[in-house]
Amino acid sequence: MTVLQLCPLLPSLETALTTHHRTVRLFEQPEGYLAEHGGEFRAAITSARVGVPDEVMDALPHLEAIVHFGVGYETTDVGRARARGIDVSNTPDVLTDCVADLAVGGLIDVMRRLTAADRFVRRGDWTTTAYPLATKVSGKKIGILGLGRIGRAIATRLSGFGVELSYHSRRPVDGVPYRYVDSPVALAAEADALVVAVAGGENTRGLVSADVLTALGPDGFLVNVSRGSVVDEPALVVALTDGKLAGAALDVFAEEPEVPAPLLDLDSVLLLPHIASATTETREAMGELAFRNLHHFLTEGSLLTPVP
Ligand code: NDP
Repeated sequence: MTVLQLCPLLPSLETALTTHHRTVRLFEQPEGYLAEHGGEFRAAITSARVGVPDEVMDALPHLEAIVHFGVGYETTDVGRARARGIDVSNTPDVLTDCVADLAVGGLIDVMRRLTAADRFVRRGDWTTTAYPLATKVSGKKIGILGLGRIGRAIATRLSGFGVELSYHSRRPVDGVPYRYVDSPVALAAEADALVVAVAGGENTRGLVSADVLTALGPDGFLVNVSRGSVVDEPALVVALTDGKLAGAALDVFAEEPEVPAPLLDLDSVLLLPHIASATTETREAMGELAFRNLHHFLTEGSLLTPVP
């Protein structure tokens, strides 16, 4: 059975694919390739960033499985796939630790102004000026937007800092010691920092609205390790440039790899190139899980970690 690969993937995953299965790299085929060959594929593998666009899915009449490298899958219309009986998988859990580690690192960075202080030292400013005071992290009120796998892992880590934790998801999570708050605005209003860990996609687009940012206020911090689409980015840029938000740690942006130009000049913002899961250990684990999903489907007929 031939596998359709939609984009470049981790080298070790590509090696496993080509060792075990005949694989066609769609991005190296001439235009119109699928019109002629689309009927040859029962499985496709792709990244969370690329997904399977509608026009590609429609050109694959015998497609039965879509395997994503990544936990987010909002780039694939899962409803459309389901309607055709196509199964979809992602790579949950194996990246949770690294994304949570980075969220906590980003929170400490912006509140204590660490990378800004590094720039201060490198510029030679320390020889003439005292570095401005930052904001304490331990003991603060932290709101987590989206208490899923990653949100819970962030909460576990932050518990060690003696912070007061509350959260918002669409429904309360059973068996957690954190306080549920019934809206993003209410969560932001009572938090010193808001950490965003919801799923991406249309359902959460603009969830961190201008009102949420206003509620967070001029002493508040925002950390986003979810998706750029979740935050009203123009409103965030205005809030940060006008001093109506104290700072932000951003791993994700609305139009990656584009970053709003005004943010480049702000010392109060940590800008990261979507690297929350980008460690050797985690990327290898993601590649292995993506491959095991594909292999299990091709040999046993089912995916190991289908999306809910
Ligand atoms: P989960 O599915 O475990 O958690 C998603 C959370 O989002 C749940 O708590 C869910 O709760 C909540 N949620 C969904 N819709 C809404 C809504 N409309 N309002 C409020 N809460 C909502 O996923 P993970 O924790 O594994 O991953 C979360 C996201 O992190 C991924 O979808 C991805 O976008 C992002 N991510 C980013 C990475 C990076 O490199 N920066 C790497 C990996 C993941 P409920 O359903 O109860 O509302």
